[in-house]
Amino acid sequence: MKCRRCGKQAEVELRSHHAAFCRDCFFIFFRRQVERAIKRWRMFKPQDRILVAISGGKDSLSLWDILLNMGYKATGLYIDLKIDGFSEKAKEKVEKFAQERKSDLIIVDLEKEGIPIPKIIHYSGKEPCSICGQIKRYYFNRMAYEKNFHVLATGHNLDDETTRLLANILRWQMTYLIDQAPVLPPIYRFVKKVKPLYRLGEYEIAAYAFLKNIDYFAYRCPFSKGATFLKYKEYIAYIEYKFPGTKLDFYEGFLKKLRPLLQPLQRQSANTFHICPECGYPTLAPQCSICRLKAEMKK
Ligand SMILES: [Zn+2]
Ligand SMILES: [Zn+2]
Repeated sequence: MKCRRCGKQAEVELRSHHAAFCRDCFFIFFRRQVERAIKRWRMFKPQDRILVAISGGKDSLSLWDILLNMGYKATGLYIDLKIDGFSEKAKEKVEKFAQERKSDLIIVDLEKEGIPIPKIIHYSGKEPCSICGQIKRYYFNRMAYEKNFHVLATGHNLDDETTRLLANILRWQMTYLIDQAPVLPPIYRFVKKVKPLYRLGEYEIAAYAFLKNIDYFAYRCPFSKGATFLKYKEYIAYIEYKFPGTKLDFYEGFLKKLRPLLQPLQRQSANTFHICPECGYPTLAPQCSICRLKAEMKK
């Protein structure tokens, strides 16, 4: 197979784009997808300080890598969840990545915050991924706000976004659909949030990380076993396998056709939050769920 751009021997076949590329041309393709996302959604400017949420997996480290390569001021943020045999190893990879690239890294230790994930899961009995996601989002936002970053970037990819879109549509979760976009604007103490990898799928990012020799943490969290979104992700992957290109059409179609219709609802929902009396961050309940958890854990 030949590279679509230069005609050399291809190394990566992208069925979704009906194309194949050699290593160098694949990097150009990858970078263009990211540039296109940043530009079209006005995610950030060259001088902006960007906080990148880093798990240690292929998506977040690839995002950090490409933003640094593109010359952006990108600082990493790692939340140490304190999951045995998992968090420590992921953290080592993240620290090594930051050292090699002489990049700034912020670490939040959930043990010190009084809410290590295993303890919280044991205590709350809720679905682990949903409560863990809630805690992570809280600290991503809080760190970005307190340390004066212009924007918080996450490594969500096309598979994550289409999986979420499918799940939201299947249950017509309007409040979640309203918030689904590659960019969320800043409101009060919610910083602006962006997803520069939203046009790239799992496979493309895995290929990028592999060809760039990014030493990432490849294991899934032990608590995520059996999570619903993993099932939906498999279905999306199956549809994409049968009909290459569907994933990107599905998501871009949503952004173009349905999202504009939901915009008026977004403005309404912005008026419904309270301010947490403990931490001062916006919440839907009288006290934010993180401060409530912390208080309960102290008892
Ligand atoms: Zn080429
Ligand atoms: Zn609070």
